[in-house]
Amino acid sequence: MADFQSVFGAAPAGVWAAPGRVNLIGEHTDYNDGFVLPVALPHAARATARRRDDGVLRLFSEQGDGGVTELRVADLAPGTVEGWAAYPAAVVWALREAGHQVGGADLHFDSDVPSGAGLSSSAALECVVATAYRDLYELPLTAADLALTAQRAENAFVGVPCGVMDQMASMCCVDGSALFLDTRDLTQRQVPLDLAGQGLRLLVIDTRVKHDLGDGAYAELRAGCERAAALLGLPALRDLPPVGLDSALDRLPAELRPLVRHVVTEDVRVERAVALLDAGDLAGLGPILTAGHASLRDDFRVSCPETDLAVAVAVAAGALGARMTGGGFGGSVLALVPAPALDHVAAAVTTAFTAEGWAAPRTFAAVPAAGARRLG
Ligand code: ADP
Ligand code: MG
Repeated sequence: MADFQSVFGAAPAGVWAAPGRVNLIGEHTDYNDGFVLPVALPHAARATARRRDDGVLRLFSEQGDGGVTELRVADLAPGTVEGWAAYPAAVVWALREAGHQVGGADLHFDSDVPSGAGLSSSAALECVVATAYRDLYELPLTAADLALTAQRAENAFVGVPCGVMDQMASMCCVDGSALFLDTRDLTQRQVPLDLAGQGLRLLVIDTRVKHDLGDGAYAELRAGCERAAALLGLPALRDLPPVGLDSALDRLPAELRPLVRHVVTEDVRVERAVALLDAGDLAGLGPILTAGHASLRDDFRVSCPETDLAVAVAVAAGALGARMTGGGFGGSVLALVPAPALDHVAAAVTTAFTAEGWAAPRTFAAVPAAGARRLG
């Protein structure tokens, strides 16, 4: 643990935090202009920071490579920064691209969001930089503005073609609620999620696997969805009404049909989930989660043996429902569990993984937490 003062030789101006997230339902819908329903995790990236007026950006992370990365803000351009430092540098670049006259900073990061686990440690890192910069440079930007800037940073500078869900969740979530977000126009509504009041827990199971095919596959799936929308003459798959699904599928090449079926049915699942939460029926969410997993496994084909097993074992051990969360090819599973069954379900999944000869998953109960904020 190297604190700000010992790394940068000066006192910081403040501390900011931005959380990771777990998405209740609405997977691979955010780049199809569809709906998502994430909650922020208590796990967050923290940035201790001070502004610099010499145009130098210095970056250090407790979870980084051990060194200080020093960059000139004026020289930032896509492709110029390697490794983890690309994420924070990207945000500074994107703010400047958007016309904000921001300069340098010293930034010290410490995050307890598991990295590469589908819980969005990357968006947490981007959003904590965006939030610190907003305050250090007094930028007149809303949380949604900062989320869009962070997404542009990840897309254009880091080179990951992600949708906007992760950044919006990290910026806009509210303690105790899920964020119902329309990714087309960023209309949002906070939906109270009183898990404890209903005797429920949200168990997160980080499988600790990340299969390599993920990165290229994500871009291919996104391109497939966009091609299907174009073939159907629609701006995005969000515009295909569920009642027209079967006839639309008939007009598409066979390889695109399951992608479209997933996206259209997933949007319906998000709307159903929100209706249940509004009605106070949290337990009713369970079957929707499990149906969402089946769609990701059989139609979108982004699950893997580890997430499939975790879902099956969690449900068999008493979860009301479970599904993989995040982009897929590994990462985490979330399970909706009656509180008394929490430890049993976690232990059952761990036992099943051990029996397969796999490393034990990391499990924790997620409590819906607040979005990005200044801590001090
Ligand atoms: P996820 O967002 O699901 O955790 P990603 O692959 O999108 O997975 O992002 C993980 C990457 O983000 C890491 O490999 C690293 O480059 C960067 N990252 C996230 N958090 C930190 C951190 N605290 N310090 C340094 N790099 C980080
Ligand atoms: Mg990420």
